[in-house]
Amino acid sequence: MGQQFGRRSWAEPWKIKMVEPLTMTSRAQRERALAEAGCNTFLLRSDDVYIDLLTDSGTSAMSDRQWAGMMVGDESYAGSRNFYHLEAAIQRYYGYRHVVPTHQGRGAEHLISRVAIRPGQWVPGNMYFTTTRAHQEQAGGQFIDVIIDEAHDPSSPHPFKGNIDLAKLEALIAREGAEGIAYVSVAGTVNMAGGQPVSMTNIKAVRALCDRHGIKVYLDATRMAENAFFIQEREEGYANRPIAEILREFCSYTDAAWMSAKKDSLVNIGGWLAVNDLGLFEELRNLVVLYEGLHTYGGLAGRDMEAMAIGIEESLQDDYMRSRIGQVRYLGELLADWDIPIVQPVGGHAVFLDARAFYPHLPQAHFPAQVLAAELYLDSGIRAMERGIASAGRDPATGDHHYPRLELTRLTIPRRVYTQAHMDVVAESVKCVWDARGAARGLHMVYEPRYLRFFQARFEWRDRSTGSRTGQEAASHPHPAAEPAPV
Ligand SMILES: *Cc1c(COP(=O)(O)O)cnc(C)c1O
Repeated sequence: MGQQFGRRSWAEPWKIKMVEPLTMTSRAQRERALAEAGCNTFLLRSDDVYIDLLTDSGTSAMSDRQWAGMMVGDESYAGSRNFYHLEAAIQRYYGYRHVVPTHQGRGAEHLISRVAIRPGQWVPGNMYFTTTRAHQEQAGGQFIDVIIDEAHDPSSPHPFKGNIDLAKLEALIAREGAEGIAYVSVAGTVNMAGGQPVSMTNIKAVRALCDRHGIKVYLDATRMAENAFFIQEREEGYANRPIAEILREFCSYTDAAWMSAKKDSLVNIGGWLAVNDLGLFEELRNLVVLYEGLHTYGGLAGRDMEAMAIGIEESLQDDYMRSRIGQVRYLGELLADWDIPIVQPVGGHAVFLDARAFYPHLPQAHFPAQVLAAELYLDSGIRAMERGIASAGRDPATGDHHYPRLELTRLTIPRRVYTQAHMDVVAESVKCVWDARGAARGLHMVYEPRYLRFFQARFEWRDRSTGSRTGQEAASHPHPAAEPAPV
């Protein structure tokens, strides 16, 4: 059969047992909904959304086994059996010795940042992540980006754009000394770079460099299972190794990890911290009681921990992961075939549209990636997310916007939720927005929250002909309202 057709398709290694109807909306309804949401897709009601590609966080479909696991939740306050299942799954698949559950990823980031950062210390990392950096800064640390330059170039075909630039890291160590560095913060598949992986060779080299200076290496393991797939696919010597084995080897070069289980682990809520050092563990286990809950539930119900334990195992099946990444790649290839500018290579969890290339007529301070997310919603009810200047926030020292080189709109694919036909519909809507790109107007921010502003900021359209503001100035602006020169 394969010979007859000349090719063999992949398909999801599951079938659908339960369905959830989607909402169809009219253009007039969407215009109203977007205006009410201040042109911020985070402020839309999900009832007004057709295909929801806002995030892959907590939006995955659980399996029948996970739902069955929910029914055997042990809701004891202390020592729930589900905690021990979770602990065993993390020890087995990620390989760390001691486990602290947290309600989600940022709960874990909060704890590790408090314990491991002294005020004034540097935290080098392979590109920032919003919540990670926010907690590092809250703890008095200063994040510094040491990712390779290729990560900032949406068209660079480098197979491991998540890699740490060893020369940048070494220069930082030389300048600040090992004691000036809290730890190296490594993330598997770098979200803000477009879901780009880190190679095994790179993490080994980072480990060796840090060993020479006595610096710890901590891993944001949120999408590390997906990272393991790329190592299997692209790195010499790993083609025949199972993803689970690759993941465990990668983790073995790090001292601790935190996790948003809402991503890789196929659950709707949950996270954890895991460390090898007993002293560090004791501090974290003590602190978790203050902020999350007792150390055997960390803000989670027993049933959530059971679903997570099962999800960890399911997320590391090779055939599952092939279809997961295959679906994301399918969407990316549809767009690339139409010459629509996306971040290449297509990453693990999302296709990132290059909003600068969509809207060269809009300065970055007019929020092109936010504009693209808004236009896409207006066209079809598809919800995407801004990953550009709004997400990048402000420099705490100067109060000016950070101006990231990447100005992206993210089409994030939930796991096991949408079909290939949905991907076709998404691609067609992006094409319509692309074809109408010349007419797009910019936005200006009329409300700016102090922390993680992209979640709750509100925007208004700028005047079509002059590009000037049509509404009032930012209402609750924590910094002087002077608008920096566009870059
Ligand atoms: C989502 C995410 C986090 C934070 O986790 P939450 O569960 O959303 O609190 C941390 N790091 C990365 C890379 C993430 O994608």
